[in-house]
Amino acid sequence: MMENFNKCSDTDFLTRLYNRSYSLGFIDKLIKENIEFSVFYIDLNKFKMVNDLYGHDVGDIVLEEVGKRFKSLEKLDLFFARFGGDEFIGIYQSVDENKINRIAQDIDRVLEDHIIISESEFTISASVGVARYPFDSDNADDLLKLSDMAMYKAKESGSNSQLLISAELNKKLSSRREIEKLLKDIDIEKDLFLEYQPIFDLKTAKLTSMEALVRWKHKTEGIIYPDDFIYISEEIDMIKDITRWVFIKALKQIKVWNEKYDTNYKISLNVSDCCIHNKIFFDNVNYMLETFKVKAEWVSIELTELSLSVSPEYMKKLLCSINELGIDIHLDNFGTYPILISDLKKFKIKEIKIDKEFIDKLDNEDNTCVLNSMILLAHGLGIKTIAKGVEKIEEYESLKKLHCDKIQGFYIEKPMSGEDFEKKYFLNRAK
Ligand code: C2E
Ligand code: CA
Repeated sequence: MMENFNKCSDTDFLTRLYNRSYSLGFIDKLIKENIEFSVFYIDLNKFKMVNDLYGHDVGDIVLEEVGKRFKSLEKLDLFFARFGGDEFIGIYQSVDENKINRIAQDIDRVLEDHIIISESEFTISASVGVARYPFDSDNADDLLKLSDMAMYKAKESGSNSQLLISAELNKKLSSRREIEKLLKDIDIEKDLFLEYQPIFDLKTAKLTSMEALVRWKHKTEGIIYPDDFIYISEEIDMIKDITRWVFIKALKQIKVWNEKYDTNYKISLNVSDCCIHNKIFFDNVNYMLETFKVKAEWVSIELTELSLSVSPEYMKKLLCSINELGIDIHLDNFGTYPILISDLKKFKIKEIKIDKEFIDKLDNEDNTCVLNSMILLAHGLGIKTIAKGVEKIEEYESLKKLHCDKIQGFYIEKPMSGEDFEKKYFLNRAK
């Protein structure tokens, strides 16, 4: 069928895959002939960073290579098209769930090998969403919208695999679009505020630091939490402005507290992948420290393993400079993404924040062993461990026995306003 349909100017100039108009026409044709099929919506993760850091020429070479790899998967009933930018679609003449899963795994697999261009190495992964004709919808527009939505859901969950669409996603999409609309009208200075969650040393039970967590107070929607807007702000390129605001606010706050109360606490700041990869991140932070006269030793930044995996060589150099400046580097959500143990040292990681997922499972012996090994391994490397999301006394006791260094979680304290934090941890603190 594909051969009959294939006319001229159907290919994308860069990847040599089919282009958008060909794939749309093909979908219409399948629908007209009532042939069951699935649409895979494929978006490359963090591709924007490749373009931003290395320029469009390198970005194009990466896309070309990705196109070649997708082409290698094509068969009679499956083909790929470049839909625009770093978005691709696959059209597969089957709606069998096992087969769909296999194709999704194939997509992951062909992207696994690094792409090497000159001296640089790129790790590419994709988020994939799937919608099926006629089960999810009987028209092309909806199928594309639904598969795009499923792709967003996959991206949000941090997994590379596809998700089938469901009615739930319809709700999710509308709220996503809603938040994007609201974000465009945000007044960062007025609408954002910070809360602080304390982090304690497990052995001494003393406060060591606090994590700054951003919130958005919307006139009609109330408080919007970062999990609902940070990833959207990353996609629409607003995260840099938000991060700048968070840094300024938090740096000024820690200076006031440490100077007023003669303390030396650290403030921990979350940095999104795209911000740390911004070439002027280092200069910006350095400038802020100097301008507001904040000691670098009062600051730590929290990064995820994903941040380290794109352009690892660039990241090693950058993190060495940040470390030399005196800022501590913490690895957030530790255990949720693969990382080479030797890289922990190369990336100058000072502390790992063990993900809540591992703390939740502490009632099981095997999982306790896993956590024990993580802590031993970190200590062997001279790296401290923070357990996050500690909610129960049993978890607290187990972590103490395992010699975890620090804890953060509702068991001790929820995030709170700066005023409450000051009252509780500075004004009332035991001398
Ligand atoms: P995160 O880095 O994992 O931050 C900790 C989150 O876990 C916070 O949610 C905190 O309220 C929550 N939490 C702490 N203890 C517990 C507990 O015992 N149980 C449970 N269930 N949750 C606990 P929050 O404030 O909603 O932040 C969510 C995420 O948003 C953060 O996750 C972080 O990745 C991101 N985020 C927050 N502020 C910023 C920011 O300024 N910049 C960036 N880029 N991301 C931010
Ligand atoms: Ca964090």
